[in-house]
Order: sequence, then C-alpha cells, then structure tokens
Amino acid sequence: MKFVSFLGKDGPGVGVVRGADVFPVPHGYGVSADGAPVGLLELIQRGTPTSVPSTTPMPLSEVRLLAPIPRPARNVICVGQNYYDHSLEFEASGYNATPSGGVPERPIIFTKASSSVIASGECIPLHDHLTHELDYEAELGVIIGRGGRNISREDALGHVWGYTIINDVTARDLQRDHRQWFLGKSLDGTCPMGPYAVTADEVDVTGLLVETRVNGELRQSAKTADLIFDVPTLIATLSAGMTLVPGDVIATGTPAGVGIGFDPPRFLSSNDTVEVSITGLGTLTNTVGGPQDIAQESPHEP
Ligand code: MG
Repeated sequence: MKFVSFLGKDGPGVGVVRGADVFPVPHGYGVSADGAPVGLLELIQRGTPTSVPSTTPMPLSEVRLLAPIPRPARNVICVGQNYYDHSLEFEASGYNATPSGGVPERPIIFTKASSSVIASGECIPLHDHLTHELDYEAELGVIIGRGGRNISREDALGHVWGYTIINDVTARDLQRDHRQWFLGKSLDGTCPMGPYAVTADEVDVTGLLVETRVNGELRQSAKTADLIFDVPTLIATLSAGMTLVPGDVIATGTPAGVGIGFDPPRFLSSNDTVEVSITGLGTLTNTVGGPQDIAQESPHEP
C-alpha cells in the first residue's frame, strides 16, 4: 500500500492513498507524546494495517504532506558513490576530499542529521551565508520494518518495510572543505523525503527508474539494477555488528548527473525546482528558497 504522513485540520496523521484520495488511519497515528508529528514511524513500530481503513477519505490534492517519517529516530543512513558512473564523476570533480581514485570496494557509509528532513512541496533553504554550491542527489530510500543485527543478504529484504524517495541535497563546498561529509549533508531542509512511502510488497527494488529534473530539464536517469552494492548487500553490511531498528531510513546512493558532474558545475539557485521521480514511488518536488529563508537564528522547534 501507499502511505502518506500529513498535517490535517485535526493535527498530524497517517493515511493510505487510493487513487486521488487519502484514507486516514485511525487511532491517532502520527503524533508523539509531545505532539510532534512522527508520521509513519509509529505505525511501522506498532504494526501496519493491511487493508485500506474504512474512514472518510480526503482529497490528496488538499492534504498538506509531511515527509513519510518527518523526524527519523536516528540519522538518515546514506551510501556514497554507489553507482559506477557517479563514482567516476565525483572522483573527477575535485570535490572528494579523500579521493580513492576509483569505484569503492566496500560501501561508503555516512549519515544526514535527522533534523534535515523536509516534505515534498517544502522549500530547500538556500543557506547562502554558508554555501554557494548546493547540489541535488536523487536516491531510492529504504525504510527498515523489522530490526536486527547480522542480517544475511538472503534475509535482508524481509526486514524492509517499504521504499520512498530521498533527495540527498549536498553543500559541496562544505562537503569538500570539512573533509568529513556530515556537515555538508546535514543543513536544515537538505533531506527532502517522499511524497509517499510504499510497502515493499508493491515494489520490485531491482527494476526502478530513478530520474531527476531541474526546472524540467532531465539531469539524472538510471536504474536501481545498476547499484554497485544492492539493497540486500547494504542491509547486510550495515547490520553486521550494528543493530538496525524499525524506521531506520537508508538512502542508497545517487546516479550520475549531479551538478558537479557538469563542466562547469551546475549548482542549484534560488527558485530552482527539483523533481525526483522513481517508478511507483511518485515524484518528490521541492523548490529552492531565497536568501531570507534561513538567514537568521531560529528558535528550536521540537
Ligand atoms: Mg547521496
């Protein structure tokens, strides 16, 4: 089934999408003890309904979407250089502070701060007091359903709850200059996620087309069959000694065609619209904001 997290007139909720409608899941899913939206995370932890709820539907077009998991319990786990052509373009770009000279022999793992997640339709802040090299990265997102440690490749897909789309927006200058990638990957609003989360039974994870358009221009187009390290390998690698927990999100890496793959690089600018589409998972759409969006210190919001 296809799920959304949303902010309705009665507060945050979770619903099942059927056609042009959203059927809210009852019993208050989507609200943490302090009232913050947790979206699908609670549902994944407590058990996912297997049929469309018999609730009053709302038009999808009138629902304000949240990210499927608006604030993951842990950082979003990410994989670097996981498509052959992208690995080569990154190595050639000069933006890898620790170049290896080629395609990785083992998965490169880093994380994005959980506070960087935003929904489809929300604004990617420009952060132009910090960076002038904001870039996009279309990625298949894997949502863990059943946790575990030392999960085998053979058992790995049985631990997957479902899939979503992630745009691993990156401040390339920060990524390069700070050598470790965390800071350049974790600015507020640089992890667009959604618009949907689709359960694993409806997704052929090896047969998906991943595409990015910037202002309508196709920039990235690749198949998940071309992942260097496939989803079972990633889960086996990550869970070898580190327990994966329900609701963990894994961004599986981006294909060639990011901004630094061009000469000269083509970074994101104010008012650019980035659309990431994956077969069966919809289109994640975000517009880059202006200088005013994050220019000042803001109070902590839970
Ligand atoms: Mg990435």
